[in-house]
Amino acid sequence: MKLLNMKMMVFLMAVTLTAVGFTQETGLPNVKILATGGTIAGSASSATSSSYAAGQVGIQTMINAVPGIKELANVSGEQISNVGSQDISIVIWIKLANRINELLATDDVDGIVVTHGTDTQEETAYFLSLVVKSDKPVVTTGSMRSSTSISAEGPLNLYNSVAIAASKEAQGKGVMVSLNDQIHSARDVSKMNTTNVGSFVSPIKGIMGGVFYGRLGFFREPTTRFGKSSEFSVEGKTSLPRVDIIYAYADMSPDLIDMHVKAGAKGIVIAGVGNGNMTDETLKAAKEAYEKHGVIVVRSTRAATGWVLRDNEFKDDDFYTIASHDLNPAKARILLMLSLADGKKLPEMQELFYTY
Ligand code: GLU
Repeated sequence: MKLLNMKMMVFLMAVTLTAVGFTQETGLPNVKILATGGTIAGSASSATSSSYAAGQVGIQTMINAVPGIKELANVSGEQISNVGSQDISIVIWIKLANRINELLATDDVDGIVVTHGTDTQEETAYFLSLVVKSDKPVVTTGSMRSSTSISAEGPLNLYNSVAIAASKEAQGKGVMVSLNDQIHSARDVSKMNTTNVGSFVSPIKGIMGGVFYGRLGFFREPTTRFGKSSEFSVEGKTSLPRVDIIYAYADMSPDLIDMHVKAGAKGIVIAGVGNGNMTDETLKAAKEAYEKHGVIVVRSTRAATGWVLRDNEFKDDDFYTIASHDLNPAKARILLMLSLADGKKLPEMQELFYTY
């Protein structure tokens, strides 16, 4: 309770300081909104319908739906794609990252907001955090309710995200994810609920800050390497090596590993049971995948939160496996793809999972 109160005080102090900064600001920053689709751009046949189509509304219509947005920043939009985020691809990631790097390298853009479906938003945000080379703020946002829904929260999420992207306080914080008045570090956040507006949670490390009708404050920094200090880049790349995720369960069959290797996977992430575990036979298949095909297997977890520790129930070196640390399977896949694309080898791989 005491700790909570202290955190709240620090947050309120930060909010107050930021608000002062805002009123003293002269001239508006330039914020570019890159739209990719999702429910925030979705529409339904009625305001109370639970079914809708994602990625229907264009970026200008979305901007026009946000009262006061033009008082926060000079806002302009660009459509990168217009898809439900289950259809976000590596090609779109690379296009998005290249465009962000290009925009932020100029003096004309001070911050970026990416509108995105919530299903894979944590993946896109984490990917961008590793390959965007700028200290300027990049914020991803979305909504759980479509733009035509009763109490649609997309406009306020967009308003808040523009405020973050326009603020000096958000510089050097890496890629952030903001929905529901919260600011998350891309590395730490997960979608934890299928429909609720409070779906985004940073279960291990907590939120980085808060934002309330455009007034914002931070009370911690990102904890892993990102942005300009990241060794990863997508410059000149058009694809990434295939990495698949296999969900583990009781009585899991080891031939799943062989099937993915045969299908062309260069790396495999196991959404393991508990602390990154899998059946003994699957573990042996993982060892064989590396010995025979050089396929690296990363142990993550199907549990919603928690670390996957190296050498926990067996020695990882004995099976050539890597522990994902606190990266969930989808994010572990991204780090493994980028690492393999840069020719990283097994001995240095574990360190990368601790670093990024
Ligand atoms: N499948 C949709 C998407 O991720 C729905 C989720 C959302 O945007 O809230 O784009």
